[in-house]
Amino acid sequence: LPAKLPNTGTTIFTVMSALAADHGAVNLGQGFPDFGADPALLQRVTDAMAAGHNQYPPMAGVPALREAIAAKLNGVYGAAYDAGTDITVTAGGTQGLITALQACVGAGDEVIILEPAYDSYDPAIRLAGAVPVGVPMTLDYRIDWAAVRAAITPRTRALVLNTPHNPSGRVATRDDLLTLERLAEEHDLFIVSDEVYEHMVFDGQPHESVARYPRLRARSFLVSSFGKTFHVTGWKVGFVAAPPALTAAFRRLHQYTVFTVHTPTQHALAAYLADPAPWQGLSRFYQAKRDAFRAALAGTLLKLLPCEGTYFQTVDYSAVSALNELDFARWLTADVGVAAIPLSVFYQQPQERRHVRFCFAKRDETLALAASRLQAGL
Ligand code: PMP
Ligand code: GLN
Repeated sequence: LPAKLPNTGTTIFTVMSALAADHGAVNLGQGFPDFGADPALLQRVTDAMAAGHNQYPPMAGVPALREAIAAKLNGVYGAAYDAGTDITVTAGGTQGLITALQACVGAGDEVIILEPAYDSYDPAIRLAGAVPVGVPMTLDYRIDWAAVRAAITPRTRALVLNTPHNPSGRVATRDDLLTLERLAEEHDLFIVSDEVYEHMVFDGQPHESVARYPRLRARSFLVSSFGKTFHVTGWKVGFVAAPPALTAAFRRLHQYTVFTVHTPTQHALAAYLADPAPWQGLSRFYQAKRDAFRAALAGTLLKLLPCEGTYFQTVDYSAVSALNELDFARWLTADVGVAAIPLSVFYQQPQERRHVRFCFAKRDETLALAASRLQAGL
């Protein structure tokens, strides 16, 4: 077989979920909720199927859903996206990222990713024939703009931004976005902006979307996912918003790789988006879980790092163990009974740090059980 991604193993999320199942561990590794979605949303899917929405929708997505997405983006971020020319419904954020990268980079191009970087960016860039250039964030997981500048070469074609940031839980600031805008213009870069956690930002901070910055928006693919926002990660429905020329390039590829996404789900989401309460309340919902989980871990030797957004809490375990991150995550799963994700998998080069990530998108009793095992086992 042709050697596509020859040095790539199995994604850490599959590995750790399997290990958690083998050991009966509480799975705080892979990021997904262990509670149900809103029954009203589920009912809408059933209703859409009963109403006969079961054939191919238009290639770019059900028009009512694209209208609802555009209205939400325009309302929340003051961005003028057009449902006809700027929005494409995708098979989750993952497809949005991979197709956006295929659309804007190719052989010989370099793409900057900010490390720790979500694990699908590197292979997605390589599959496009381009070279991922990992730029480490600062020690406290801020974007190191001096390092980004130093990494830009005449071959740099794009940068992948992720805010709120998986795995660190940091959120980008207005200054970050303004700096990115200047750099992108100076070096004529495309931006692939992974904003799948756009509705999980805590302590009253805003989500700084590329959509808020017209000159940045003009060169950006904004990627989001309903899986995160509505607790339905298995639905794999998301969208990409980008100006007409970028969207045209995106759809040229989308039409022959995916073509369309599950029709009844799109109708359900279109109707459900009419009520802003579910996504407007999401930050408050997850902030309460963050606070409870942090309070429960406060008595352990784990050092809690700041969590400003996402549903991930990163901890420093150096007071507990000298094991490397992957070995510690394995030990934690097998011996303590709580699965976590080692941050080392989000870097191209080996790291000296001792950090793992817990997902707190879990029922309160799941978090309490995990915390009690961590209290007893560390
Ligand atoms: N980007 C980031 C940062 C993520 O955490 C995820 C979630 N797994 C994705 C993209 C992919 O989203 P989806 O599950 O909708 O493909
Ligand atoms: N995005 C989720 C995480 O970061 C998992 C996605 C996956 O399993 N590929 O944990």
